[in-house]
Amino acid sequence: MPANKKLLILPGDGIGPEVMREVRRIIDWMDRRRSVTFEITEGLVGGAALDATGSPCPDQTVAAAAAADAVLFGSVGGPKWDKLPFDKRPELGILRLRKDLGLFANLRPAVVLDALIDASALRPELVRGLDIMIVRETTGGIYFGEPRGIHVNEQGKRVGIDTEIYSEDEIARVARVAFDLARKRRNKVTSVEKANVMQSGRLWRAVVGEVGAAEYPDVELEHMYADNCAMQLASRPKQFDVVLGGNLFGDVLSDLAAALTGSLGMLPSATIGALQSDGRRNALYEPIHGSAPDIAGKGIANPSAQILSFAMLLRLSFGMDEDAALIEQAVEKVLGGGLRTADIMAPGMARVGTTV
Ligand code: ATP
Ligand code: MG
Repeated sequence: MPANKKLLILPGDGIGPEVMREVRRIIDWMDRRRSVTFEITEGLVGGAALDATGSPCPDQTVAAAAAADAVLFGSVGGPKWDKLPFDKRPELGILRLRKDLGLFANLRPAVVLDALIDASALRPELVRGLDIMIVRETTGGIYFGEPRGIHVNEQGKRVGIDTEIYSEDEIARVARVAFDLARKRRNKVTSVEKANVMQSGRLWRAVVGEVGAAEYPDVELEHMYADNCAMQLASRPKQFDVVLGGNLFGDVLSDLAAALTGSLGMLPSATIGALQSDGRRNALYEPIHGSAPDIAGKGIANPSAQILSFAMLLRLSFGMDEDAALIEQAVEKVLGGGLRTADIMAPGMARVGTTV
């Protein structure tokens, strides 16, 4: 008997708990279908944790996350907590988890399902069959480099400072994540930076090239300036397989790629940590949408992104590729059958039901 997989579920706030309930129904179905493979713990995070414990990310949650094989996260935040001081914000819940678990690589697939093409924001010929994976470095780069801050210079004028710092180890480890993913996909990595104007970009290009040549000679590697990549994503998106970028460029490009799919309620994501000596790595999976307080509690939220985040977890953390594919196909089948939540309804389409 293989050891049970330890899964920590953190529903959070807003629509988090209601879309997570749909995942629990899938897990129940999987449990009934065969011997139990999950050991599930549910924990508190975000506003829900603040209300119960005074902290948006209690130590108990961090400890449970570190002990788990994977974390399934909902979403945090809402108007109820908006007026709190910065160090009490529900959003700190996810930030602390990322930091304490060392989650340095954010994976965001941008996939357009055929069934959804009618609801897509862009021309169908552009995005039909789109399947891109954006890999973004999340713990380094310009969001964290020192010095940073707003100072007053000798002329009495304010000066804003951010510093982009990347070490070769930081670049190499996230590059390996991108190359490993490419091997399971279409075998191509596009690495983006601004090596023409930034020193950290020059190093980024050099290190990704070295890792590729030494460890992944079978994977096609292409270097692209980030601005050009933005233009190419908007005009010829299907040339891309895995796109690799630092914290800032990865942030911008992953939102651009998400916009191509035209469906916030459909997109999952993963944030993963270093490969440990026992072959495990910390990983947290969450939908890219937020807590959507405007629709929370109404039973109209699209649970697909949360469900697809669970499928991504099964594939990447538990190696359960078949189960992941089954869930993805089920989502596509439901949409193909015409069942839609409001966020993915094409103009003029009849409302069939409120929940998928
Ligand atoms: P964040 O919390 O990441 O800052 P945000 O506040 O910018 O996110 P969301 O909470 O994702 O944004 O909501 C943006 C809009 O999209 C809202 O109008 C919300 O109702 C809608 N939305 C988000 N997720 C879903 C979903 N799963 N189903 C339907 N509508 C959604
Ligand atoms: Mg929000």
